[in-house]
Amino acid sequence: GGLSVHELANQIVVPETEIIKLLFFKGIATNINQTLDVETAKMVAEEFEILVETAEQESEAKKVTEMLSVEDLENLSKRPPVVTIMGHVDHGKTTLLDSIRETKVAQGEAGGITQHIGAYHVDVTHDGNQQQIVFLDTPGHEAFTAMRARGTRVTDIAILVVAADDGVRPQTIEAISHAKAAEVPIVVAINKIDKESAQPDRVKQELMEHGLVPEEWGGETIMVPVSAINGDNLDTLLEMILLVSEVEDLHANPDSLAKGTIIEANLDKARGPVASLLVQNGTLRVGDSVVAGSVFGKVRAMIDDRGDRVKEATPSFAVEVLGLNDVPAAGDEFEVFADEREARSVADSRSDEQRRSRLQQAMASRRVTLSSLSAKAQEGDLKELNIILKADVQGSVEAILAALQQMPQNEVQIRVLLGAPGEISETDVDLAAASGAVLIGFNTTLASGARQAADRQGVDVRDYDIIYNLLDDIQGAMEGLLEPEL
Ligand code: GDP
Repeated sequence: GGLSVHELANQIVVPETEIIKLLFFKGIATNINQTLDVETAKMVAEEFEILVETAEQESEAKKVTEMLSVEDLENLSKRPPVVTIMGHVDHGKTTLLDSIRETKVAQGEAGGITQHIGAYHVDVTHDGNQQQIVFLDTPGHEAFTAMRARGTRVTDIAILVVAADDGVRPQTIEAISHAKAAEVPIVVAINKIDKESAQPDRVKQELMEHGLVPEEWGGETIMVPVSAINGDNLDTLLEMILLVSEVEDLHANPDSLAKGTIIEANLDKARGPVASLLVQNGTLRVGDSVVAGSVFGKVRAMIDDRGDRVKEATPSFAVEVLGLNDVPAAGDEFEVFADEREARSVADSRSDEQRRSRLQQAMASRRVTLSSLSAKAQEGDLKELNIILKADVQGSVEAILAALQQMPQNEVQIRVLLGAPGEISETDVDLAAASGAVLIGFNTTLASGARQAADRQGVDVRDYDIIYNLLDDIQGAMEGLLEPEL
């Protein structure tokens, strides 16, 4: 069953764009041709308070639409996608970022002077229009994970780079888990196809084992063979990003006060605190009063990724900002206030609050532990048990995964975010913290730094050397039977 947005719009006499806006506002991304299930269609109809087939349909619809005219909703316009590049070390993330930037940016700029501000944008002609794509140019997923841990989503699309001569590797799998956990669509760049040893089809096969099925094999994942070094097929990759971005239907309201995320920040000897701000809604302007965490600032100057001084930055663009009174943390959200005094007082009260909450955190971090999950299960509050599993060898991983699958999961669903052989790394800990998962090791060790990271972030790391004990504890947690830890 179900209705397309178009059909629903006709039935309830509300403009299609209003329905799309409403769904966008509710966090449901759609386009006009997408089919809505009955539940969603009903919800939409109710939101517009329309009794289908009343005489006053039309006027009623108009009235309700007016009620909905929250400023943002009325002024939504398309924004460029923000893209992150992920993948295994040495598969070519940095080369790809540099290559895209060089070919797409330098060619248009005299001298090609670029400024590193943590993000850059390229212009791409798509469907006859000039469109933009914004790349976060910190390769790897630290930024991604850290921001997600704070609950902010800055990335619209992840490019997963896989070297055609090396295939799917542990960090490839990790990247897939991160993107999936954040519900960010993946476009795969099969890199290094210039190499003789390249085996793109083998890469596709391996990716299928991790749930990414290439389009040409009937799946949904776009995979583009590229050579970052030669620049082969980069245009196709960019086109595909824009295609996915269209499906994602990315919007923001450029007519409001800016909000967004700090992507980089540091103390410059000459210029004082400097931060790169990614605008996610609204427009940021010189002279604006900005609050980021407990940092306040009146924007004195803004520099874009091409080294130009600019007066404003619209949604999805990043700018380097001068004029902050301190260095904010990367990953912090920022917000512009209309009133400078209000902004200052918000920042001040946050800095008091921060001091207090840091203390509280140090005293009792909100740990996700098997026994706290067990307590939740006992209350009937546990729906999902997220697990990250690292084991000595692939064979153990498979044996444990198979056994987990056999467990009854009526009340609580087991979700294995990552199951791989190897040491428990700091990234595993980050992923666990970001996704509220327990980290389980079987006959393996912790990489240096992972223990401190786990302690710092309050992640429960459990070591086992007997599969039975491991399964027993997980079952116990799911049934709410685990004894609280002392
Ligand atoms: P990262 O660790 O993922 O950022 O990988 P890098 O971008 O540093 O690349 C690792 C190595 O692979 C470098 O020596 C690059 O020159 C090389 N490399 C990257 N892309 C390609 C490519 O398309 N073809 C070939 N032949 N080598 C590449």
